[in-house]
Amino acid sequence: MRYSRVAEAFEDLEATQKNLEKTDILAELFRDADDELANLVLLSTGTPFPAWKNMDLGVSSKTLVKIISKATGRSEDEITETWKNEGDLGLAAEAMVEKKTQQRLMTQEITVEKVVDRLQKVADTQASGLSQSVDQDKKQRELADLISSAEPKEARYLARIIINNLRLGIGEGTIRDALAEAFFDGEHSEEIQKAYDFTNDFAEVAEACREGIEKVRSLELELERPIKSMLAKKVETIEEGFEEVGKPAAIDYKYDGMRAQIHVKDGGVTVFTRRLEDVTEQFPDVVEAVEENIESENCIIDTEIVGYDPEDGSMIPFQKLSKRIKRKYEIQKLKAQIPVTVRPFDLIYLDEPILERPYSERWRELQEIVSEEEKVMKLVDHAETSEEEKVGEMQQASLSAGHEGIMMKSLEAEYKPGNRVGYMVKLKPVMETLDLAIIGAKWSEGRRSDWLGRLYLGCYDEENDEYLEVGKMATGLTDEQFQEITEKLKPLITKEDGRKVEVRPEVIVEAEYEEIQESPNYSSGYALRFPRMKQFREDKEQADSLQKVKNLYEDQS
Ligand code: ATP
Repeated sequence: MRYSRVAEAFEDLEATQKNLEKTDILAELFRDADDELANLVLLSTGTPFPAWKNMDLGVSSKTLVKIISKATGRSEDEITETWKNEGDLGLAAEAMVEKKTQQRLMTQEITVEKVVDRLQKVADTQASGLSQSVDQDKKQRELADLISSAEPKEARYLARIIINNLRLGIGEGTIRDALAEAFFDGEHSEEIQKAYDFTNDFAEVAEACREGIEKVRSLELELERPIKSMLAKKVETIEEGFEEVGKPAAIDYKYDGMRAQIHVKDGGVTVFTRRLEDVTEQFPDVVEAVEENIESENCIIDTEIVGYDPEDGSMIPFQKLSKRIKRKYEIQKLKAQIPVTVRPFDLIYLDEPILERPYSERWRELQEIVSEEEKVMKLVDHAETSEEEKVGEMQQASLSAGHEGIMMKSLEAEYKPGNRVGYMVKLKPVMETLDLAIIGAKWSEGRRSDWLGRLYLGCYDEENDEYLEVGKMATGLTDEQFQEITEKLKPLITKEDGRKVEVRPEVIVEAEYEEIQESPNYSSGYALRFPRMKQFREDKEQADSLQKVKNLYEDQS
């Protein structure tokens, strides 16, 4: 299929806000795709890689300017100027290619396959360990070559995909429904969702849809292909907790550690974070703990990795532990400074996928395969009860021991990847903070003029797949943190207008605040009063939802 057909469909998708129309446009595209279906579905998700691979092309907006310049022969200044005027680098790429096309006699036709192959190839180059400069040069040349053979509109969407900023307002639900419509007259949405939950790979699900519903049903969870973690709803009281999860329920301590999904395949251990990053290398102690203390050669355990102080054995908060996630050098040293205990709480694969079996059974199986060892591997503190009083006692005990509170879990429920379903709920006494994406910032003045100061925070609107502003944050940060934030945000800048910049919503911060107010001045309709930085949430890739902001707003009154 010609890539121009995709660009046209993307333009139509951009032009409508209505979900049903979006689904129809996508479904038509999918129906026409034939052999290119898998590639096409990936492109619609905004990246050429399946979700479980957790890959990124690693191209910043600034680098893309260089690439466009190489592709079109226009100067970087002119491109940056157009980018500023148009407000979007995709439109700037389109305009530059347009100018070039006028001077060109022939355009090459590009196909969807070529686009996806090239983008994937460039990413592989990145992973192949070539020296940084060679690698970067080659990547830029390959991408420039692709843009130079594109038509203007094709270039618009290529540019956006390259910087991971497609923004068509289509979420997973829309892609799922479009597949159902394209191949099953709108039926089997639920089964398609399930297949996606198990595989975390829309390309594979789409191929299965083409073969028929039986194939979709046959897709399964596989080892070393991480799935999204099941998330928890928040409740305010024990009574409310029981209403959500039923009686009797499992009650666990809630630890302030790092969520890790650990896969054991033929005895080999891989550790994934909740963002599906492979952090096996950073946690050799976790690998060892699993090798020594998990009696299964093929399983997936869901765990919380908790750091402790090597001097006195006391728990350390996630913020400190999170240092270990990013660190690629001096791992042994850091391991000694911040040792960890693995605390398993769920089992989703044991020689075969078991995530559809009730939690009570999964927990029993987990108990069977974990052999506990002080400070190394310990099941979470866990009880099963129907009595509120007993839950209250556990809650107190958990808090006294310095933990965050408790989790209440349905004993009957299956494991539902990626969803904040009420199969497990959390009960914490502290004021709820919000995890928000930085979506914009402002260059400071005076002494700090090369730092990004004021930060614009956004929550995620699930319905329209976009980020909406909920507040500005300028306090609670040390000079060091301002510098750190500036470094993190610079490569993510998508638009600059005077001192104000817009950035891709990839840096997530946990914000405290006085209260939430309704506000017409912010696109979300809500404003946080006096938001303060609590910590970076390196472990998260998506901000809290608009719905959560709404709920918190309603809960306070
Ligand atoms: P929070 O900021 O409260 O940790 P969150 O948004 O990071 O919330 P939630 O899914 O809402 O994540 O809360 C559940 C998290 O609590 C899990 O992701 C996991 O990392 C952690 N956790 C700690 N102890 C447990 C436990 N016993 N069972 C399940 N999750 C646990």
